[in-house]
Order: sequence, then structure tokens, then C-alpha cells
Amino acid sequence: MTEARVGSFGVYGGRFVPETLIPALEELERGWREALADERFRAELHELATTYAGRPTPLTLAERFAPGKRIYLKREDLLHTGAHKLNNALGQAVLARRLGKRRIVAETGAGQHGVASATVCARFGLQCVVYMGEEDMRRQRPNVERMRLLGAEVRAVDFGTRTLKEATSEAIRDWITNVETTHYLIGSCVGPAPYPELVAELQSVIGREAREQVLAAEGRLPEAVVACVGGGSNAIGIFHGFLDDPEVRLVGVEAAGAASLRSGRTGVLHGARSSVLADEDGQIADAHSISAGLDYPGVGPEHAYLRDSGRAEYVTATDEEALAAFRDLARTEGIIPALEPAHALARARDLDAELVVVGLSGRGDKDLAEALAALRPDGK
Ligand SMILES: *Cc1c(COP(=O)(O)O)cnc(C)c1O
Repeated sequence: MTEARVGSFGVYGGRFVPETLIPALEELERGWREALADERFRAELHELATTYAGRPTPLTLAERFAPGKRIYLKREDLLHTGAHKLNNALGQAVLARRLGKRRIVAETGAGQHGVASATVCARFGLQCVVYMGEEDMRRQRPNVERMRLLGAEVRAVDFGTRTLKEATSEAIRDWITNVETTHYLIGSCVGPAPYPELVAELQSVIGREAREQVLAAEGRLPEAVVACVGGGSNAIGIFHGFLDDPEVRLVGVEAAGAASLRSGRTGVLHGARSSVLADEDGQIADAHSISAGLDYPGVGPEHAYLRDSGRAEYVTATDEEALAAFRDLARTEGIIPALEPAHALARARDLDAELVVVGLSGRGDKDLAEALAALRPDGK
């Protein structure tokens, strides 16, 4: 295992990977820097965002959800495929093509990143293999069917907790074996450098749009921006739009049972140093959340850095709080959110702030069976 100095966020980040992956990470980093400097790459991404993905997404005032406050929802649920993940998948697919890679491997938890990956692979004619834990396949059946319909091969991962952690390890193992032909399309701002930085840049379109939109609607910046944190990509994307506005509070909301930032310790997971759920010996602990997308014992290194520096604050929401917000948003606004951003909604409405922007990272269709089963004991 080697550690490089590139791509660090303070003491977090880096590259904790086998030697065989270093050339691929360097190639990716070079390709990414060249692409960023290439006007045609930016123009192609912009064209795809507007004509294929459905950007810009709207900013919706949720008046009935939070009476007495002005809570705006940044509507990534309306993006093609139903979540923010497509912003990242489209960008990495265009990058993979530039690098001459015709095969994509990806991991998925909730299935949303698998669907986004399968979608862009269909769009660009790339071979697609998605690793997914068996437990997540059970919870997210419709997304498994979507991926297969889109032409992807879904490989079940049947060891450990059979969720995202093991799926990620399998995807990395595949990549190590097939690194010449294959791009690893990572689904969040995690992993070895340059992935955290690359994914944050591709998701920062959310924050740029949201900042412009809230200024147009209110003539001022929000007091707070709130987003759920699994690996942290939708949150880092919306936070980046407001990082240079110190008067705007940045609030990340973790699942109470998967609070890598609130309850974690410094450690290495999936190629980077960050804040992870682990015991005293550094053994990675299991995460627990009703939302598959937050059920991950690690988090992107930039969030650990933002936590330590005090620029962002991180809080938690329980399964019950998220379910209540899920039901309430449906009934008051006619919007069924994914269970992941329901955690952000739960904290946003009791936050000590009047004007708030919430990252609504995805829609709830995928979660209906799970959420209804959990709500039903109340008779609600
Ligand atoms: C995957 C997912 C998340 C969690 O991932 P982040 O990288 O933390 O954004 C959150 N919301 C939705 C809708 C998702 O699909």
C-alpha cells in the first residue's frame, strides 16, 4: 500500500491503494486536468446536462411543509433517473471515453448510482458491470430491474453486511484486475485521489445553480444550506456553491446509525483517509440506516476536513425522523422524497434559521415498499 501526497484535504484524502493502481490513478488525474482545461469537454458536459439530464433543476419553496420558514428544495429528484448521481456519472463517462476505456465498473448501494452508471453506459455504448450487495438488491428490487433493462450486468455481493461497503471492495478488486480496459466509476466523493475532488467538481453544478436561484427568488443568501451525507457527494456539490459565503451555515445530516463524521474516528477505508466508523483496532464497523444510500461506514475526506475546520457542521437524524419527514413532504407538498434527503428535511425544519435551502437529492419511488412497511405499524 502506498500513500501519495496529492489530493489531500488537510490530513484527509490521499491514496491508500495497491501499487498496481497508482498508474491508473495518475492517468485519471492527468486526463481530468486536461479535460477541465478543454473548452470542448465543458461544452459537451453542458450540452448533455441541458438536453439529456434536465438541468437546471428547479428550486421549489416548500411553504406548507414548514410554515413560518422559507425552506427551498433544490430538486435533484427531477433530474433524469431521479437523483443527483447522474451529474457525476455523465461527467465520468465522458472522461472514460476520452481515456479510451470502453468498460465501466461501479458499485451501488441504493441502486441509484448503478442506474445512473447503466444509463450513461447505454447512452455512450460502454460495457457496464455493477456490484451490489444482496441485502441492497432485496431492498431496491426496481433499481436492479432498471439496470438490467439498461443493459448492465448486476453482480450480487454475498459476504459481510451484503451492502455498499462490500460492493465497493468488489468493484475495486475488479478494477485492479482489469485496469487497462476499465474505468472505475465511483459513485460518491470518496476513494483515492483524484476521485473526491473530481466528483465534487462534477456535483458542484447543484450549488452553483442553487445559489443563483435563491438570490433570484429572495434577493439574499440563505442562512443555511442543509443536505444529507452518505458518501457526501450531493452535500459537497451543494456546499461548494456557498463555501465562499461564510455567513451561510453548511449543515450535513447523517443517518444516526451511520454517522461517520459524528461518531467516527480517523481511519482508512476504500483508498482514502477520512472519518470512519471503526472500533479501537481500526476494524470497520457496520452502519445501519433505513436508507440504503446512507448505509455506509465512511464519508468523503473533504467533509472530514470541513468538519475539523468548522466551516461545516454535521448532525444526525434517526430512521423515525426521516420517515416522518418523508410522509410529511408527500402530504404537504405533493413531493415524495427519497429516504436519504428525508434526513435533511427532518433537520431543516427544526433548524434555528428562517431561510434555508435543502438539497432534495432524489425521489422516493425506490423507497416506497421499505418506507410503507416501516410506517404501517402506526396505522398511518
Ligand atoms: C446515493 C444517494 C445519496 C447518498 O450519496 P451521497 O454521495 O452522500 O450524496 C443521497 N441521496 C440520494 C437520493 C441518493 O441516491
